[in-house]
Amino acid sequence: MNFSSSLKSEITWVLSGFIGVLLAGFALGWPSVAVILYLGGYVGWLLFRINALVRWLDAGAKASDAPPTTGLTNEIVQLVHREKKYSRKQKNKYRSTLAQFNSLAADLPDATVVLSEDHEIRWANAAAQILLNIHPDRDKGQRIDNLVRVPEFREFLHAEDGIEEIEIAGPVAPEKVLAVRKVRTGKHMTVLIAADITQRVQVREMRKAFVADVSHELRTPLTVIRGYLELLRDDPSLTKEFATSIDQITDQSDRMRGIVDDLLQLSKLEGNLLGKNEGVLVNVQAMVESMIAPLEEISADHHVTLDMQPNLHLVGSERELYSAFNNLLTNAVRYTDAGTTIHVKWESDSDGNAVYTVSDNGPGIEARHLSRLSERFYRVDASRSRDNGGTGLGLAIVKHAAQRHGGTLHIVSTPGTGSEFQITFPASRSNTSVIASNQ
Ligand code: ADP
Repeated sequence: MNFSSSLKSEITWVLSGFIGVLLAGFALGWPSVAVILYLGGYVGWLLFRINALVRWLDAGAKASDAPPTTGLTNEIVQLVHREKKYSRKQKNKYRSTLAQFNSLAADLPDATVVLSEDHEIRWANAAAQILLNIHPDRDKGQRIDNLVRVPEFREFLHAEDGIEEIEIAGPVAPEKVLAVRKVRTGKHMTVLIAADITQRVQVREMRKAFVADVSHELRTPLTVIRGYLELLRDDPSLTKEFATSIDQITDQSDRMRGIVDDLLQLSKLEGNLLGKNEGVLVNVQAMVESMIAPLEEISADHHVTLDMQPNLHLVGSERELYSAFNNLLTNAVRYTDAGTTIHVKWESDSDGNAVYTVSDNGPGIEARHLSRLSERFYRVDASRSRDNGGTGLGLAIVKHAAQRHGGTLHIVSTPGTGSEFQITFPASRSNTSVIASNQ
């Protein structure tokens, strides 16, 4: 029975009782007295039932203590029973979901630690004990930087800017490499996830060493071949046909030497970041100005304009920065037609970051290529790149050199309008903040 039918049946029997009592009252000659007594009795009985109901609800509404009642108030008791049963079911459902989640998180192979705003440990799984020596029960409430005493980790934990992942030596076993990621959840919590990437790093190092060794080994035979080609070219008895072939072989061996050199450079750049203040103070304006004269050798018909902030210097590797800045500049000359204007800008933005931009009004690049441009050997037009002496490694070198300095490469281009290649370096690498932090 539902609530409205209970109400109807209560009204029906109260009215039938009322009519019965009224008729009896008329028969006895005291109808009003009979009605008053009946209504008073009903109200009293109703109040008694409501009082029992309120006391029962107040005491926790246990099913076993439900007051014996009828009609409307009985329906309320049944409703409370149903509601309690439903919420019990829901609670059990949530409890089992939570238990499932806890056991899942506890069994994750990656160390997972939930931290409060003050970096105090709230929760940790079993892997956290193995990889970080954090015991889920023993260390609850402890500050994580008191337990994981790795300087880079401490810096990473407190950094507000976008560093979301670092690689550290394992605090339990230093031969292990851990990739630690930081995920902010809501305003007051951070989840740290540390994965054992020792094997991945070993493979990466092996690949790097292999590429570096092969490139290094190829340099000597290439130098010898180049030497003999020069000797051959100088031979006066050489037929014209043969001289053309020698020129072609020389071009190809130069191209190969270029690839080998770029591969070697790339293998040195990949993976390792420069330390915070590692490097020298580089005068970027002077460096870029020194690149202009050699550009004339590639093309004298491009207009290059410079807009440089003279007192903005950068802390880093002079060789790597030269390579990155020069690659963007030579690309702008090599991949645009004569008469193109190339604009180089060096400035600090509103956040104090140092920004190097090379823009041109050349042919531009279709959007589908943009995200792949800095991959090794990715070219928009392979034959044009080869004709220009490109190795397909230029932008990969730019990206990695920028990354080593904490910078990012950003490319915007519109076919028919031009391209803009921009490297943004963090304020912490510019001379203003370095001088300020040393004072
Ligand atoms: P490469 O060493 O062959 O020049 P890069 O990695 O430097 O290779 O460049 C990748 C590709 O990006 C080039 O093949 C070229 O198609 C395209 N590219 C680079 N700079 C420009 C530019 N300023 N305008 C148009 N295309 C460009």
